[in-house]
Amino acid sequence: MSGVHPTLRRALPWLALAAAAVLPLAGAPAYWITMANYIGIGAIVALGLVVLTGHAGLTSFGQAAFVGIGAYTTAVLATSFGAGPLTTLLASVALTTASALLLGLITVRLSGHYLPLSTIAWCLALFYLFGNLDELGKFDGITGIPALAVAGVTIESGRALYYLIWAAVALSFLAMRNLLDSRPGRVIRALRKGALMEESCGIDTARYKLLAFVVAAVLAGVAGWLYAYLQRAVNPTPFGLGYGIEYLFMAVVGGVGQLWGAIAGAALLTIVKDWLQGVLPALLGQTGNFEIIVFGVVMILLLQRAPDGLWGAVARRWGRRPAFDAAALARAEALTAQPQPPAGAPLLQVQAARKTFGGLVAVNDISFEVRAGEIVGLIGPNGAGKSTLFNVVSGVAAPTAGEVRFQGRRITGWPARRLARLRLGRSFQHVRLVPEMSVLENVMIGAHLRSRRGVAASLLRLNRAEEVALRREAARQLERVGLGHCLALDAGALALGQQRTLEIARALCLDPVLLLLDEPAAGLRLQEKQALAALLGQLRAEGLAVLLVEHDMDFVMGLVDRLVVMEFGTLIKEGLPADVRRDPKVLAAYLGGVDE
Ligand code: ADP
Ligand code: MG
Repeated sequence: MSGVHPTLRRALPWLALAAAAVLPLAGAPAYWITMANYIGIGAIVALGLVVLTGHAGLTSFGQAAFVGIGAYTTAVLATSFGAGPLTTLLASVALTTASALLLGLITVRLSGHYLPLSTIAWCLALFYLFGNLDELGKFDGITGIPALAVAGVTIESGRALYYLIWAAVALSFLAMRNLLDSRPGRVIRALRKGALMEESCGIDTARYKLLAFVVAAVLAGVAGWLYAYLQRAVNPTPFGLGYGIEYLFMAVVGGVGQLWGAIAGAALLTIVKDWLQGVLPALLGQTGNFEIIVFGVVMILLLQRAPDGLWGAVARRWGRRPAFDAAALARAEALTAQPQPPAGAPLLQVQAARKTFGGLVAVNDISFEVRAGEIVGLIGPNGAGKSTLFNVVSGVAAPTAGEVRFQGRRITGWPARRLARLRLGRSFQHVRLVPEMSVLENVMIGAHLRSRRGVAASLLRLNRAEEVALRREAARQLERVGLGHCLALDAGALALGQQRTLEIARALCLDPVLLLLDEPAAGLRLQEKQALAALLGQLRAEGLAVLLVEHDMDFVMGLVDRLVVMEFGTLIKEGLPADVRRDPKVLAAYLGGVDE
């Protein structure tokens, strides 16, 4: 909100945290401390879910199982082997990482409901494993965990643990904030809506889903480690499916994309649950876990009324886009660019490409070529097979027969991700961007392959120089396409024509040799079409080659060097625009075709 000073706005949550830090010193009642400790543990798990569910779009009901792995690892090592807290922490993290990797490798590639279902199965399986193993004390669990002691100092009381737990919350918070604001973090944040687009930028999206899954599991494991030292005993109950659902509630109630929301959600859920557990049995005259019913109803109402959750509503009121430092960008180092091949060198060679769908021949043995520094238009009436051919070339679909070569290399059937490494950039017929990310960040994703920094560097904030270089490159490409004034806007706020142009800037960030554009002018107004044509002409002058699928003849005529005309899957004419325009077969196709 404009009324709140930005510095104050940013400082306020931290001030609240600082106030909470002096809580036990001020002699708060033991009950409050206990509550605060459980809130902290819940918040750590929920922070992981903000990344996993809120950003990567993968729903897990099974985080309680990872908490259990951390807690049981700690309990066994501390009671049976006398291991200290550092050993138990490392072992908890190692074991949650290993099990998340194992589970993730099997399930993360699954689509739709399979991942949530498998996390439910996983949580149930582990619950019964904990409850049935003699070594783990069956359903009675393990008691007598020694108090946490570091360098002779024993952290035993709830008050002492309060500091440890909330220090862990703060660290987890900072780690997740750093992660989300980084090269791998941007990929994770775009997974839910932009996985296909990311693959076309050369990104292995399955790897980043797995990363989000492991990160969330590690946070749950750390929470389990804290839990073991807080309770000094473990049993299977708090690691069951009911608790897995509660952790998810915390993240969703707080606002599933919001880190502060994880803390707010954990606080709200813990307090309300405790209150309901006291009130409901008295009200109903019998004992039972009635709070879960209330939670269910509230959850449904909340998802209907405020899908952004508690913190989402706050964040909307307060605004959040960070200030934009144009001067720092100007000083930043440039990303390295590779030389363009000499004009006229053969780039893309399509040889007798064929694609059939059942009995339908969508692409019928088509051959053509695109050379360096030229714009080739692929035109034809609706249903001619242009998009299908485009998909064959851009790695979306493998051809039934025939061959595609790029710079002499056979690339037939290569996935989009591999083509990006050969510097083949593309845009999409139906715009694919992340509407709630800034224009600049959307475009930065395009330069993924030209940057290196991974998770460790991002967590430790050793990625700042590269981040500025990435921002600079994205800003430069946005200037180049004429969107230099929109860098800080939400991509979703752009007009359609600008969104298409954004996609071209994103593709340019790949430092491409060849740009593949599927109907870039569709839905644009005349002025926007003219601007686009001017831009493509300028890119050609800078040495880029463009293959352009287009339905609108007028748009391509004055722009392209050569045209390939398709009708009913077949190539009916190839040549200079002037010759194509006069060709009787082309005229017949366009007059006879169903032209919108
Ligand atoms: P264009 O882009 O030139 O309008 P398309 O390549 O989209 O044409 O479609 C060419 C033909 O192939 C059409 O008859 C279309 O119905 C058919 N087609 C396209 N994709 C599929 C698919 N996945 N399954 C079956 N038929 C398809
Ligand atoms: Mg099409």
